[in-house]
Amino acid sequence: MKAYNFNAGPCVLPRQAVESTIEAIQNFDNTGIGLLEISHRTPGWERIMAETEQLWRELLNIPEEYAVIFLGGGASTQFFEVPANLLKTKAAYLQTGVWAKKAVKEAKFYGEVEVVASSEDKTYSYIPKGYTIPTDVDYFHITTNNTIYGTEIHEDIDSPVTLVADMSSDIMSRPVDVKKYGMIYGGAQKNVGPAGVTFVIVRKDLLGKVERPIQTMVDYRTHYTEEVKNRSMFNTPPVLPIFVMHETLKWVKEQGGLEAMYKINKEKAELLYNEIDRNPLFVGTAAKEDRSLMNVCFVMVPGHEALQDEFMAFAKSKGMVGIKGHRSVGGFRASIYNACPKEAVEALVACMQEFEQLHK
Ligand SMILES: *Cc1c(COP(=O)(O)O)cnc(C)c1O
Repeated sequence: MKAYNFNAGPCVLPRQAVESTIEAIQNFDNTGIGLLEISHRTPGWERIMAETEQLWRELLNIPEEYAVIFLGGGASTQFFEVPANLLKTKAAYLQTGVWAKKAVKEAKFYGEVEVVASSEDKTYSYIPKGYTIPTDVDYFHITTNNTIYGTEIHEDIDSPVTLVADMSSDIMSRPVDVKKYGMIYGGAQKNVGPAGVTFVIVRKDLLGKVERPIQTMVDYRTHYTEEVKNRSMFNTPPVLPIFVMHETLKWVKEQGGLEAMYKINKEKAELLYNEIDRNPLFVGTAAKEDRSLMNVCFVMVPGHEALQDEFMAFAKSKGMVGIKGHRSVGGFRASIYNACPKEAVEALVACMQEFEQLHK
């Protein structure tokens, strides 16, 4: 049976990225040696590193004054590396989910933190509006897509202070005006590759301003050099995840880049949200105007909660994988990242319609 992968992360990757990686593991760059067995100082690898950075710059239109670096440790490590590099006295955070809350916790190790608004009161089912960004802070931190709750900040907001964004789960899903941000970071494993590599895009002039000493590995400047072949190579980079990211971004480019991805992502999300809104058995959990294009959360309508396990089993029998909602929200979550084909969304919609027929 065909499996439709709706996992939230790690999650579906473009088939061709997986296939070319398998090939490279056997024989990297026609060297007769596998990707996992070569030195990261070989020219073939240096080329992959340079191309990966170049693909990021091209796809997101990242200006020259920004460094693009690849690190280990996941987005969670950035929760403290961001304040270590940027927080002098005070920072502001928008608390739109538990990831944001975890980022707040780590920032407090470095200085004062103001949570300007939070949607915790309603299980983070909406994006707070009408808040004021303080101007006496070193930066304002947002989480653009809230993976667990299926909410998303759809626009690049205007901020009077340096804007820092955790874009772990919606990076490369739409064009982004990078110039509006001082820094963008995230784990690769939602939309740009497998677990094990973290991307950091940071405006270089923001670095080196804190007075505290910073550990060498934590200082972003360590990982950025003028010499392209040494970038993100201060120590051994996670070669396998970076290779898969390289192949994934090549695929994104072949699809037509971010305008094209955005168009298809909107189509996929609309298809699924339309069915949730139409189908009398299901209801969405996120505020409509804040609905994520990446993670679609829904539950059984009140009165039909008892059908939840039955739908889960039914969907499983139809090949749906990974649609169980996060335990804090319950119900269902379909993650429909870039590499999730429209056909998978159509199959899920058909499955929901069939289930409705069974319960007429
Ligand atoms: C998954 C996720 C994280 C955590 O990423 P790790 O790489 O596992 O540390 C942080 N923020 C958001 C928005 C996420 O979706």
